[in-house]
Amino acid sequence: MTEIVKKSSFLDYAPAPESTSILHLQKSYGLFIDGSFVKGHGKAFQTISPATEKTIAEIANASAKDVDTAVAAARRAYDRTWSKLSGADRGKYLFRIARLVQERARELAVAESLDNGKPIKESRDVDVPLVAAWFFYYAGWADKLDYAGLGPNPRALGVAAQVIPWNFPLLMLAWKVAPALAAGNTVVIKPAETTPLSALIFAEILQQAELPDGVVNIITGAGDTGQALVNHPDVNKVAFTGSTAVGRAIAKSVAGTGKKVTLELGGKAANIVFDDAPIDQAVEGIVNGIFFNQGHVCCAGSRLLVQENIHDEVVDRLKTRLSTLRLGDPLDKNTDIGAINSREQLDRIRELSDIGEKEGADRWTADCVIPDKGFWFAPTIFDNVSTSSTIAREEVFGPVLSVLTFRTPAEAIAKANNTPYGLSAGIWSDKGSKILAVADQLRAGVIWANTFNRFDPASPFGGYKESGYGREGGRHGLAAYLESAGWSASK
Ligand code: NAD
Repeated sequence: MTEIVKKSSFLDYAPAPESTSILHLQKSYGLFIDGSFVKGHGKAFQTISPATEKTIAEIANASAKDVDTAVAAARRAYDRTWSKLSGADRGKYLFRIARLVQERARELAVAESLDNGKPIKESRDVDVPLVAAWFFYYAGWADKLDYAGLGPNPRALGVAAQVIPWNFPLLMLAWKVAPALAAGNTVVIKPAETTPLSALIFAEILQQAELPDGVVNIITGAGDTGQALVNHPDVNKVAFTGSTAVGRAIAKSVAGTGKKVTLELGGKAANIVFDDAPIDQAVEGIVNGIFFNQGHVCCAGSRLLVQENIHDEVVDRLKTRLSTLRLGDPLDKNTDIGAINSREQLDRIRELSDIGEKEGADRWTADCVIPDKGFWFAPTIFDNVSTSSTIAREEVFGPVLSVLTFRTPAEAIAKANNTPYGLSAGIWSDKGSKILAVADQLRAGVIWANTFNRFDPASPFGGYKESGYGREGGRHGLAAYLESAGWSASK
């Protein structure tokens, strides 16, 4: 195994840490139910900074009884207020939320980086601006549902139960809450247990926006809370983003209940680089594809498929580029690679990387200074990976790239599709007709050409096969929260 050697900071950037003074953190946070913070009946837990392992705050744990209270609040709000408002009035609340997210953007970015471990430049420039964009986009749809092409008079489903993961905590909340409210539903949402902070600050934003009580309820807790929520008999819609294993269990438990379900699950995307691609841009795209957000990205380009004749050049340039990335304090504005979100996830990345090495792939690790405290994993490349290798098949969900080669477009397509997942893919080539011909044959929900990991609220996002079903974003994202005659999101 390549040892991580501590390199000197000779001629390095001076630290430029973002101040945490903008945060008004509470020592402990309750559950946000019916417009107020209330105590939970489960055993409270701590949320920690993965970069320092220090406690940030104590978080309430929702018991089954609390889930019941939250669903009842959402039902009351649906019956009495939200379903009675016009689309234009719902839209006004969404616009207000979007503007408040922008006003409190710096605070939200700092909270997200502190709790999740992602670099502040990503939470500041990607996560939070996209959160605002999502609310602005769906605010615009709220009074235009009749014109969304979803059939005449589309109607809200009722109460939506939403469960989200820890990799993009506030962004995943926005992907779920914004279309649900625009379509006229009320919500009970559960953030992941390791990243509840930004959702709780978002609850304060909802109070500031004077959103009617009970329209959005935010309950914190672990898997058992999520399970109680999705299985609650009074929810009409289940929206889940997370692992394929849990998604499968949810699909089984709600089968036959009449609840409408969307599942956004894991991925093992191929990033295909042809020999006519602009290599410098492709190298940047490969780095952005797998090392953005420490590789904690469902649609990460974790399998690099590079045409055999440019393999050495691409891998050499990739190593050179990775050697310039700075790993460390997520709140430092110079940081490229932040902390791994939890010890559990770090153990999983280490385990899969060790398996990759045992199975014969060549491991290379960037020469990074690893801080003494916290959870860290240096950017790592596995070369000479075979298609049957564990690291070519399983989602590592960390800063680990597997490199495979191909000779012809047909081989690239066959290898790209040789996965149980089907969430995303990337194609790098100078030739537009080649890009279109290849894209047409890839079984992936999102395909980027000469770029990677770009998101827009107007664009639908979702998977094939074990990556789940249903789409979030765009008009398709509205359809997932509406009862409409003669239209389905798969059309
Ligand atoms: P996870 O499935 O362990 O947890 C996700 C959420 O589900 C958490 O809030 C968790 O508390 C809750 N949960 C756990 N068990 C549950 C159960 N039995 N019933 C209901 N809820 C339950 O996933 P994770 O480790 O938090 O997230 C990483 C996974 O999420 C990766 O596989 C990643 O690919 C996937 N992901 C997918 C997308 C997408 O859009 N497709 C986006 C982000 C992340």
